[in-house]
Amino acid sequence: MPDCIFCKIIRGEIPSYKVYEDEKTLAFLDIRPVNAGHTLVAPKNHSNNIFDITPEDWMAVSEVVRKLAIAIEKGMKADGVNIAMNNREHAGQLVPHPHVHIIPRFKGDGLKLMPQRSYENGEAEETLEKIRTALT
Ligand code: AMP
Ligand code: ZN
Repeated sequence: MPDCIFCKIIRGEIPSYKVYEDEKTLAFLDIRPVNAGHTLVAPKNHSNNIFDITPEDWMAVSEVVRKLAIAIEKGMKADGVNIAMNNREHAGQLVPHPHVHIIPRFKGDGLKLMPQRSYENGEAEETLEKIRTALT
């Protein structure tokens, strides 16, 4: 994809702080980190998000995420990590090339990622029905 900013990073046309690279993936520092060490893992093949990435690319990305989560926690002396992926505009995706965020977390850093709520009466059952139907 010529105009995709992450494809440009992968082709070396835009500089990046490379954390890790292999045949199928590139991991680089997010230029606007939540915390230092915030890393993005992307497949080298262009697609848009979780909905059209190939199973092979997704497996490669997930395994790199697993390995880097360990290295980032250890290297940054963090107290945990968050793994996140935004898919489509209204889920907060700014760059339409799949990428998983690995965010090192530190005791007391105060970051609150996802506000939660309770299910109302019957809502959990209705929700299950919708998702299970879509799976078949
Ligand atoms: P998302 O909202 O999940 O699409 O996240 C896109 C992320 O890419 C943001 O956190 C940006 O800070 C990051 N980003 C954008 N341009 C660059 C770049 N040239 N190098 C590194 N990270 C970038
Ligand atoms: Zn791309």
